[in-house]
Amino acid sequence: MSYEDTLRYLGDTTRLMEVGERIEKLLMTPQRQLKVEVAIERDDGSVAVFEGFRIQHNGARGPYKGGLRFHHEVDEDEVNALASLMSWKTAVVGIPYGGAKGGIQVDPRTLSPGELERVTRKFTDQIQVVIGPEVDIPAPDVNTDGQIMAWIMDQYSKSHGYSPGVVTGKPLELNGSEGRVAATGRGVALCASWALADLGIDVRGARFAVQGLGNVGSWAARLLAERGAKLVAAGDHGGYIENPDGFDVPALIDHVANDTNRSVAGFPGSDESSFEAFFASDVDALLPCALGGVINEEVAKTIRARLIVEGANGPTTPDAHAQLIGRDVMVIPDILANAGGVTCSYFEWVQNNQHFYWSENEVNERLETILRKAYDGVGRTAAKKKLDHRTAAFAIAVREVGKATVLRGI
Ligand code: GLU
Repeated sequence: MSYEDTLRYLGDTTRLMEVGERIEKLLMTPQRQLKVEVAIERDDGSVAVFEGFRIQHNGARGPYKGGLRFHHEVDEDEVNALASLMSWKTAVVGIPYGGAKGGIQVDPRTLSPGELERVTRKFTDQIQVVIGPEVDIPAPDVNTDGQIMAWIMDQYSKSHGYSPGVVTGKPLELNGSEGRVAATGRGVALCASWALADLGIDVRGARFAVQGLGNVGSWAARLLAERGAKLVAAGDHGGYIENPDGFDVPALIDHVANDTNRSVAGFPGSDESSFEAFFASDVDALLPCALGGVINEEVAKTIRARLIVEGANGPTTPDAHAQLIGRDVMVIPDILANAGGVTCSYFEWVQNNQHFYWSENEVNERLETILRKAYDGVGRTAAKKKLDHRTAAFAIAVREVGKATVLRGI
C-alpha cells in the first residue's frame, strides 16, 4: 500500500473527527526518516550495496515500535505507509508505543546465509543511532525472523552493552517470549472467530480462504482449523489451490515449509486455481495475509466473502474498501486484526525489562484479553457512530495519538 493510500484513510478520519488542521498536519508527517546505505562484501568478493530505511512516524505515546522487512520492493513510500500504520495499531490496542517501520530493499533469497548476516549487521550499525530499548524497538516483518533479530541484538549490544530489549521477536533462547511466533496469526484467528460470531456464522464449519501461508497466514489457518473452520482456498506468490472439502492444514503448512519455492502450489490432493478464482471463492471469510495492495477495486468487486480479516498490512486500497463497505462486507482492518504480533512484542519487552518470564498460557491469556478489549472498543465505536470497522479503529487511534501529541506539545 502506498503512503498516499494511508493518508486517505487517515484524512477521512481526521475530517470526520474534526481534529483541525494543526493536529492533522502533525499526524500526517513522519517524525524521522533515515535512509542508509547497506554495503557488504559478497561471498565471491564483489561488493553489493542495498538501500535501507528506518522511519519513525509518531512517538507521542512511547518509544517507536515496528518491524523490519527485507523485500526487493521495499522503498521509502511503502515504509512511510507501514510506519504510520504502526502508530495507529499500537494506539488501537492501547500499548505504550509509537509507530515505526524499517526495511532493506533486498530479496533475501538471493543472499547466502553469511551474506544475510552481514547485511543485517551492517544495517544495524547504520541505524543504531536511532534505535534503542527506550527509543525505537524493531521486530520481525516480511522475510525477517528470530535469527535476524538475534543478530541485531548482538550487533547493537557490542556498542551499547547487553540489550535484549532493543528488538522483539527474538528466539526463546535469547530472551524471546513464549507465544510470539504465533501471536500475529493468533490475533487474526481470534478476530475472525469474533467477527464470524457477530455475523451469526458458527466458526465450526465456516469456510475460509487464506492468501499467504507465511508466519501470519499459517498460524491463523492452523488456529481457525483447530476451532473447526474449513480452509478451502489458499495461495501465494507461487500459485493458488482449492479443495471444497477443506485442506489438511498442518499438512499444507508442512508442504510450504519443505517446498523449495515456499509455496502452496502443488500440494497433493488439491485442485489448481488462480488469483481471480481465489478472491472470488465462495467462502465466509477471506484472510489476506501476504503483501499490501492486493485487493484493489477490480478484485473487490469479485469478492463473495461476507468477512475480510486483514492479516497483512495494507492489503486493501481505499477505493476497494469503499466498494466492500458499500456491499456490507465486514472488514476487520489490519491495525486491529494483525495487532497480536506487536502486542506480544510488548509482552516480550516488558519481560526483558523485568527479567522475569511468563508461561505460554499467561502470554496467550493476556493477548486475548487485550485484543478482545480492542475488538469490542472498535465494535462499540462503529455501532455508536455508524462507521465501518476501519474508520472506527482509525477514529480511536487518531483520538489517542492526537491527545498524546497535544499534551506533549509541539
Ligand atoms: N511487523 C509486525 C507488525 O506489522 C510486528 C511489529 C512489532 O512487533 O513491533 O505489526
